[in-house]
Amino acid sequence: MRKNSIDGLKSQLSTDSKVSIIGHKNPDGDALGSTLGLSLFLAKLGISTQVIMPNGFPDFLKWLPGIDQVLCYDAHQAECEKKLVESDFVFTLDFNDLGRTGNLGEFLKTLDTSFVMIDHHQESSDYAEFMLVDTHIASTCELVYEFITTEYLEQKLTAEVASCLYTGIMTDTGSFRFPSTTSKTHRIIADLIDAGAKNSQIHQDIYDNNAESRLHLLGKALQNLKVLRDFSTAYTYLSQEDLDTHGFKKGDTEGFVNYALSLKEIKFAVIFIENKSEKIVKISFRSIGDFDVNAFARSHYSGGGHKNAAGGKSDLSLESTLVEFENTLKSYKKELI
Ligand code: 5GP
Ligand code: MN
Repeated sequence: MRKNSIDGLKSQLSTDSKVSIIGHKNPDGDALGSTLGLSLFLAKLGISTQVIMPNGFPDFLKWLPGIDQVLCYDAHQAECEKKLVESDFVFTLDFNDLGRTGNLGEFLKTLDTSFVMIDHHQESSDYAEFMLVDTHIASTCELVYEFITTEYLEQKLTAEVASCLYTGIMTDTGSFRFPSTTSKTHRIIADLIDAGAKNSQIHQDIYDNNAESRLHLLGKALQNLKVLRDFSTAYTYLSQEDLDTHGFKKGDTEGFVNYALSLKEIKFAVIFIENKSEKIVKISFRSIGDFDVNAFARSHYSGGGHKNAAGGKSDLSLESTLVEFENTLKSYKKELI
């Protein structure tokens, strides 16, 4: 699905405009890359911008250009609200439902301002006046690239903007391997490298930057792996105790679910991560091929995302969540084998 209704936006943006740019809770490479890339670009045009995130971000993204200017709502609520009230435009990037920003969403709903949605997730809600949405595109960073290069033809991309956009495209395509990666993706990547994105350095900064705690946690997740061959499914879990014992830090579990998906003949992979302070079990779903994890997450886990990568949550205990998951799976046997 594609929704392109950003006509007239550029003419309303001027050096007098105040713009806030928001990503989703627990921001990933695409959420941070797209918000920072857009913010740095607009700032260079003389437009006043502020990036606001619902909460903090993992260490492996802390090198991103412009990251120091990000305000986190959970730590600086009053300052964020002041910026938002003063904003003429609120850009929401890499999500399509205000609920994806946690508590910040409640405040956003009270604002009487123009919302702009740039996103690639399925089933958008309709809070935005301007939308650049395409669910076939691999990353929001690719859409920000499109926005910049079609609306501001005469502007050159800086190396900093290029690095931000490269990061989101790289992380959301699984380093250019998911089926959503197209020749166009690679052409954009080539352009970003020409503009100064240090591709090899970015890969190192993201993937060769592990804390020991992360590798120990990975060991635990691999120990907990359960393979349900009859359902072409593999899942794993980490309890709050596992996280505490192994010195968990935000971002440490990123990508773990892919180990389950890498098993031969497995089409559906899941990781369940207990979060005692939020009283939920956060869940990541991944699939290969036709099994639609966006639909699965929406139907059973108050979540969503994409066909092959989605997330959700359970309000039950970790143990009950796992039992319930195995039960739920029974009605999907035909789709999975
Ligand atoms: P991850 O499993 O890496 O956290 O997320 C996979 C995809 O699903 C991402 O595109 C992410 O934005 C989306 N996603 C993750 N959790 C949720 C959720 O609770 N609700 C919705 N609607 N989407 C989610
Ligand atoms: Mn994304």
